[in-house]
Amino acid sequence: MESKFTEMYQKEPAEENGNGCEQVINLLDLMVDGEASAEEQHFFNKHIEECVNCFENHQKQKLLKGLISGHLKRVIVPESLAQTIKAKIQETI
Ligand SMILES: [Zn+2]
Repeated sequence: MESKFTEMYQKEPAEENGNGCEQVINLLDLMVDGEASAEEQHFFNKHIEECVNCFENHQKQKLLKGLISGHLKRVIVPESLAQTIKAKIQETI
């Protein structure tokens, strides 16, 4: 009759968000820059297969990186190109 009380306080350690998310966030830059070691890449890829949050973060980071490094000069889309794209989209619908 004496153990009931303590049982209430023995909580299972809550499954924390810490399955490596922090490490993955720290690795994001290295991964996008291609500077992560093989071990880090392995860890990273394994993690984002199972963690949607980190997967999305990686996608966003890659997108951002791509925008910064490659497409700055082409940010302004000529009106004619926009028209062509619109026409193409309507064709396929
Ligand atoms: Zn994660």
